[in-house]
Amino acid sequence: MGTYPSIFLKPGKEVPVKRFHPWIFSGAIDRANGKIKEGDIVEVFSSRGDYLATGHALSGSIALKLFSFKRLPIDQAFWKEKISLAYKYRERLGMTDPVKNEAFRLVYGEGDGLPGLIIDYYSGMAVIQCHSVGMHLAVKEIAIMLKEVMGERLKAIYEKSAEILSETVDYELIDNFLLGEAIAVDLVEDGLLYQLDLQGQKTGFFLDQRENRKVVEHYARGCRVLDVFCYSGGFSLHALRGGAAFVQAVDSSKKAIELVSANLKKNGFEESNFSTIAADAKQYLEGLQQGFDLIILDPPAFAKHQEMRSKAIKGYININLNALKKINPGGILFTFSCSQAIDRNTFQSSVMAAAIEAGRNVRIVQHLSQSPDHPAGLFHPEGAYLKGLVLYVE
Ligand code: SAH
Repeated sequence: MGTYPSIFLKPGKEVPVKRFHPWIFSGAIDRANGKIKEGDIVEVFSSRGDYLATGHALSGSIALKLFSFKRLPIDQAFWKEKISLAYKYRERLGMTDPVKNEAFRLVYGEGDGLPGLIIDYYSGMAVIQCHSVGMHLAVKEIAIMLKEVMGERLKAIYEKSAEILSETVDYELIDNFLLGEAIAVDLVEDGLLYQLDLQGQKTGFFLDQRENRKVVEHYARGCRVLDVFCYSGGFSLHALRGGAAFVQAVDSSKKAIELVSANLKKNGFEESNFSTIAADAKQYLEGLQQGFDLIILDPPAFAKHQEMRSKAIKGYININLNALKKINPGGILFTFSCSQAIDRNTFQSSVMAAAIEAGRNVRIVQHLSQSPDHPAGLFHPEGAYLKGLVLYVE
């Protein structure tokens, strides 16, 4: 292609790239041809000069995130092919059927060979979140191709990258519509209605817990349920649909509490069967009395980086300890970690430490993970960030 700047790797550093690992660390780079700035499209070569991959330049310890292992021009046709492949995967899983499902993640970064790009689809509206400057620079082309792939069904595209990228770029970044405008629709997931909150957290809704909400529904019959870190209330709604006797939803964000309250009403659940409270989870759990048969703990990522691991582990032990101490005998605890820097074994060990201190005997009923529209590549295990345990507490 000749038009992109290039970098050459140190000898031996091509091995992970040949296995399609999508990151290049700065330490692997021998030299660059041309001046490279954050967001540039860069071609990567081995020390012997063989083409390996193409990606976006970043400024951190990950110097490049790769989106192509074929030497192609990175133009609209390229983005269209990538988005089509991502769509095809969801189609194969039965997730794109407009009658059955109106909310799915269409692009999940590395998992779809598009590091730095998230696209969620909600009932006619796509929300794009760019996690890299390179993807933000390409977002208009991506939006045009997204419309081509999804066709009539897609009415509006909203870019929501400001929260993520504001500190990385030196210009003002404003979230806005790239196609159409806000449409007053309810988001439907698994037959339940949610208010779509474009100003809300992440892209507005947490699709990664879709399958796990069904598991909560399965175990909720007759239970008094505590949904901690509830956000828009997916677990609470499923618990009530599954026949829970009562649901208490807790979140520190007042906006989240407004959302969950609206969603509970929207779905017609009896007000006497639920209660919502804006409170800090740690304080709430410390003051918790007995009386819950099923507890859900779905905290935000306690460790976004490696350096925060020990603080995160203490956080997991603390919340799980209080839940395990106080859950009714025979109760079920759903406990999650979405921190990429904490692996499944470390998370399970933290929960074990909590169980030892609580003095409760605990069986593992089931291991949970993120829903399949958030695929982790086999060569990129870092993509498997959501870990969950269903525990039976004697
Ligand atoms: N369970 C939710 C997603 C949870 S996201 C769902 O299924 O949709 C994590 C939530 O934790 C966010 O809503 C955030 O507002 C809330 N949160 C963050 N810190 C908190 C704290 N200290 N106490 C209580 N809630 C907190």
